[in-house]
Amino acid sequence: METPKPTQPPAPAHPAAVAEVLDIDRSDLPYRRWLSEAVAKVHADANRSADTHLLSVPLPADWGVDLYLKDESTHPTGSLKHRLARSLFLYALCNGWIRPDRPVIEASSGSTAVSEAYFARLIGVPFVAVMARGTVRAKVELIEFQGGSCHLVDDACEVYETAARLARETGGHYMDQFTYAERATDWRGNNNIAESIFRQMAEERHPVPAWIVATAGTGGTSATLARYVRYAQATTGICVADPENSAFFPGWRDGDPSATTDTASRIEGIGRQRVEPSFVPGAIDRMMRVPDAASIAAVRVLERLLGRRAGASTGTGLWAAFRIISEMRDRGERGSVVGLLCDPGERYVEKYYSDAWLASQGIAIGPYVRLLETFLRTGVLEGPEPDRSS
Ligand SMILES: *Cc1c(COP(=O)(O)O)cnc(C)c1O
Repeated sequence: METPKPTQPPAPAHPAAVAEVLDIDRSDLPYRRWLSEAVAKVHADANRSADTHLLSVPLPADWGVDLYLKDESTHPTGSLKHRLARSLFLYALCNGWIRPDRPVIEASSGSTAVSEAYFARLIGVPFVAVMARGTVRAKVELIEFQGGSCHLVDDACEVYETAARLARETGGHYMDQFTYAERATDWRGNNNIAESIFRQMAEERHPVPAWIVATAGTGGTSATLARYVRYAQATTGICVADPENSAFFPGWRDGDPSATTDTASRIEGIGRQRVEPSFVPGAIDRMMRVPDAASIAAVRVLERLLGRRAGASTGTGLWAAFRIISEMRDRGERGSVVGLLCDPGERYVEKYYSDAWLASQGIAIGPYVRLLETFLRTGVLEGPEPDRSS
């Protein structure tokens, strides 16, 4: 939503008597000075930041297939949403949508809001996150720690309308990541996540990945990866792994952008009840539905492989990556697969790392943990075919 423009001058009483105004100058030097400073602060923050690591996940060397994880948990605000928030702020600032002292409002499942609160404070504007009540407490605390405030709604589907309404009522700006994520990021390069992966892969034995596996919340990351590999004329396939209760998979399968689901995703950060406008289906090569229990089993197993914890969305992608590796092994193919470590597991100790929470949700990860243990020994990931239903 745009900030209200200055109101038009009243219509003249006798139109013929007063010349029609055909030249309107709304330039505002103090605002432009503020804007320049805000853009400079966002740039300087990027300049202080280092690139994220591309971790090599140890698999038996004789498999001939190498797995890497782009560790997005090391951004200053702890997730891949740091990139998105920076892009959204620059896009909105340069569009004239963010004004001094007016709040920025966002609908979020949490991670974007943590990062946006950081950038809002950086440029000195208030920030309000609109989130579902089920969001983990740790994310609410992180948003408040970054100086933002949280507005919780009972139904996850209400976040969009509530954020738009709050923006109207306060004269603020509804950032709307679910619309703008795909276009705010420079997909051709400019050190986006795709270009960074390709640069970091350059000296590996299989420098051009056979597959990059992403997950989708806004769909922005998969859009950037998919457009980039096409633009770079790489043969890399882009796979999106989708959790239960998400509309992306059935929407993509059926070519139906109006697909919806009745229940919210249990995997925080990914899986939406509608096909978000920022999801770009035509550029995606493959989608895989991953059971929630498999996603959580995969992050538990990752902890043993890497010695660190990740959020469950990392597990959704990891399960799909393991399945692709199993297929490559089966066909005798060599190559590399790249996945994403999206955010740290410390945010979810009371959720995905809590056996009590798993029991309360009726999620049994045991069978999937055993399938993964067999996979790591044999290179064969058996088990339930990915759920093809909606
Ligand atoms: C947002 C998010 C994703 C997916 O990224 P998008 O670019 O929004 O599709 C994955 N994992 C986590 C933890 C996220 O917050």
